Amino acid sequence: QQLEQLVADRTSELEQKALELEQANRRLQEVDQNKTAFLSSVSHELRTPLTSVLGFAKLIHRDFCKVFLPTSGVDEKMNRMGDRICDNLDIIVNEGERLTRLVNDFLDLVRIEAGRMNWDDQRVSPTRILKGAADAVNGLFVETPGLDLVFDVPEDLPDMTIDPDRMTQVIINLLNNAVKFTHKGHVALRAAPDTESDAIQIQIEDTGVGIPVDDIAKVFSKFHQVKGQEGKDIGTHGSGLGLSISQQIVEHYGGTIRVQSEVGQGSTFFLTLPLNRE
Ligand code: ADP
Repeated sequence: QQLEQLVADRTSELEQKALELEQANRRLQEVDQNKTAFLSSVSHELRTPLTSVLGFAKLIHRDFCKVFLPTSGVDEKMNRMGDRICDNLDIIVNEGERLTRLVNDFLDLVRIEAGRMNWDDQRVSPTRILKGAADAVNGLFVETPGLDLVFDVPEDLPDMTIDPDRMTQVIINLLNNAVKFTHKGHVALRAAPDTESDAIQIQIEDTGVGIPVDDIAKVFSKFHQVKGQEGKDIGTHGSGLGLSISQQIVEHYGGTIRVQSEVGQGSTFFLTLPLNRE
């Protein structure tokens, strides 16, 4: 009987503990939701004034540097000052654009993590999406002599259901990174159906600077950027959020993303996207 009492006591103690844990868990979830709502509204609120600051900076840049200054016939001293103002305006516009990208990336990430992203899923041809992404970055290759874009994607990849804009965002992000960290050689976009696992495999391969072993696992973390890496300024990203967002998007569709890399040799990002999700 004593034993029975002991078991009963223990059981009710455990039940009490389980209840407390459940309450603590609920409170944590609430705090987490509040944090997400806060971050999402802060980044949203930041966008409006930022858009207007950037818009006006661009207007002044155009009116003053492109229209007024070249035709004004001002003296040399004024001209030098004008040039200096235009250099500074350039910096303001570039940094404003960088900040806008950062805020937009941050908003994307917070929305995905909070389950509040609007996914506009459609039946699409992955070939078309990959072609579109390659076209979008083509200009970067024209600007970089000695760097080729290899496009190795079959015409007849099976259709899949996905948000085309989000998938394009992932591929463009990976291609941009590849171009940014590759000075010569090639960047290849390859794809193939994988009938065994009913998925498509996509590879973005570059012959660039590579990623050190210690950083490989961390590149998908928020804000992680490899130190001392020699990248080109291609006027895109630079928030350290691109790969985290790409990973979240791919995982939303039940896929995976990983990277293999060797310093001085290059990197390959491997994407697997299931064709038919449950
Ligand atoms: P961002 O490109 O905005 O810095 P990402 O999340 O896209 O952010 O990438 C994180 C970091 O991973 C980059 O800053 C870079 O250090 C490293 N990285 C990504 N792709 C490559 C690549 N193809 N080659 C070398 N390093 C890369």
